[in-house]
Amino acid sequence: MRKSCQHPRHEGQELSSLTGRLRREARKVTGPRAAILEILRHHPHPLTIKEVFEELPKSGCDLATVYRAMQMMEKLGMVKRFDFGDGAARFELMNEGDNGHHHHLICTRCAQVVRIEECFPAEIERQIASKNGYQAVTHRLEFFGICPDCQK
Ligand SMILES: [Zn+2]
Ligand SMILES: [Zn+2]
Repeated sequence: MRKSCQHPRHEGQELSSLTGRLRREARKVTGPRAAILEILRHHPHPLTIKEVFEELPKSGCDLATVYRAMQMMEKLGMVKRFDFGDGAARFELMNEGDNGHHHHLICTRCAQVVRIEECFPAEIERQIASKNGYQAVTHRLEFFGICPDCQK
C-alpha cells in the first residue's frame, strides 16, 4: 500500500506547502515574469533566454534573473521548453487550455520556424509504453529542412 493511503492528512499538508512554496517563488519573479510574458506573447515561436533578455528594457534584470524567472514559469506550466538541437533551450508561451504539445519545422539555412500540428499516432506511444513496461510515455521532436525562400 502506498504511504499516502495511510496518511491522507499528511499528504494534504505536503501538497498545500508545495503550492504555497510555488506561490511564494512565483511572487518573487513577478516583475521580470510579466515583462518576459509580454515578449513571448508577441512572438509566435520559441525564444532563447538570450533573445528574451535582448528585448527586455536595458534597466532592471540581468541574464540570471531571466533564467530563474523562465525556470519558474516552466515549473508553473506558463511556458513550454523546446530544444532545436543547437544547445539553446527555447521557450514558448502556453495558451490557456493548450497542452502545448506540438512540433516545429526549422529551416537549417535561415532558422525560420513553422509550427507543425502533425504528430505520431497515439498508437505508437502505446506500443512503446507496453513493450518497455512504461507508463505516461510522451515525446519531443522537431523537424528540419530548407524553407521555400532558401530554395530560390
Ligand atoms: Zn530558410
Ligand atoms: Zn507529438
